[in-house]
Amino acid sequence: MIVRHILCHHAQLIAHPVGDGNALELNSWGTAMMDCGGDARAIQVLHSAAARGMSEFLLTHLHFDHYSGISRQPPGTKLPFDVDQLFLPALPLIKDHSLTENFALTLFTMNKILGGKSGIPEQDLIDGFTSLNPTSTSPSHAFLSKGDSFDLAGIPFQVLWPPRVASDLVATSAKNAIDVFEKAIENNEQAKEIRERLRDQAAQAARRAVQRADEHDDRSADASQEEDSTDNEEFIDGALEIPETLINANRAIRRVANRLSLAFRCGTRLIHLGDLERAELNQVVTDLGPAKEFFGMIAAHHGTHFSSKMNRLRALHLVVSNGSRRPNLQAGYRKIARFIQETNVHGHSFLVF
Ligand SMILES: [Zn+2]
Repeated sequence: MIVRHILCHHAQLIAHPVGDGNALELNSWGTAMMDCGGDARAIQVLHSAAARGMSEFLLTHLHFDHYSGISRQPPGTKLPFDVDQLFLPALPLIKDHSLTENFALTLFTMNKILGGKSGIPEQDLIDGFTSLNPTSTSPSHAFLSKGDSFDLAGIPFQVLWPPRVASDLVATSAKNAIDVFEKAIENNEQAKEIRERLRDQAAQAARRAVQRADEHDDRSADASQEEDSTDNEEFIDGALEIPETLINANRAIRRVANRLSLAFRCGTRLIHLGDLERAELNQVVTDLGPAKEFFGMIAAHHGTHFSSKMNRLRALHLVVSNGSRRPNLQAGYRKIARFIQETNVHGHSFLVF
């Protein structure tokens, strides 16, 4: 194991064009997917990764454009893969146990309303994979927070985000999302019933967050404030009839999910900025220390999020997963990156690092 990490070996990254979603394939001594897109195209992506022996899947954050493609396949779709390991961002402790539990409950309920099988992300992912290959064994899953290390496709990564304890900004956004959601379901008995059924799982998620926060007391300084851009649209494909009030609630919930997105790096070879918002991007860059040069960079939030502190970063290669609905790469990226590949412009984008 140690020897393998000392020997610097190459990896290949493929950004599959999946419209406005995100699907990155990582190939080295193994094959892994980082998200798989939110629509029917996910199956082609997963099929090609399966042919290369995909056995791991990492979900950067809880947005449907990054994973719901797994469960949006025609009934009877089968894939010849055996995913044995899932990685997901850990839910941090949001101020206290009760706010954390309430936020988890709101998130799970919303997921279920939007068509998730159970509403609980790890469970829905596991179900999605096992239904695509009923003979496979159920994958194990691990939650990741800042400070953790993990191997993906045989490449060692360090987790930069989310922290184990959320910032005040996240707590405020989470509280707001819960309020908007509760108002939206005030007269919706069906939604309230769904929520009641998910209480135990939400309590479990909150207990896990408290435990992780206690293990590693990293109550860091609050993420520096910076006005966030307004592009937070999560494109939900499919003809779901959802009232406008609930769409607003979903927007508020997903904004928090962005703030809790995974970001990670492999030394200075590759940095993946997930779908982080600007305040969190600033904090991640601050945590990196002085100016940093990366060989490869995955742009934040499909290239639409960029923070002022990112000006101290440099990337030889930038990979952007974007589609026609958000084609505009933030100008800042053009200043810090030398070679840029965008799935909206170039289709499949490749990087060997
Ligand atoms: Zn996204």
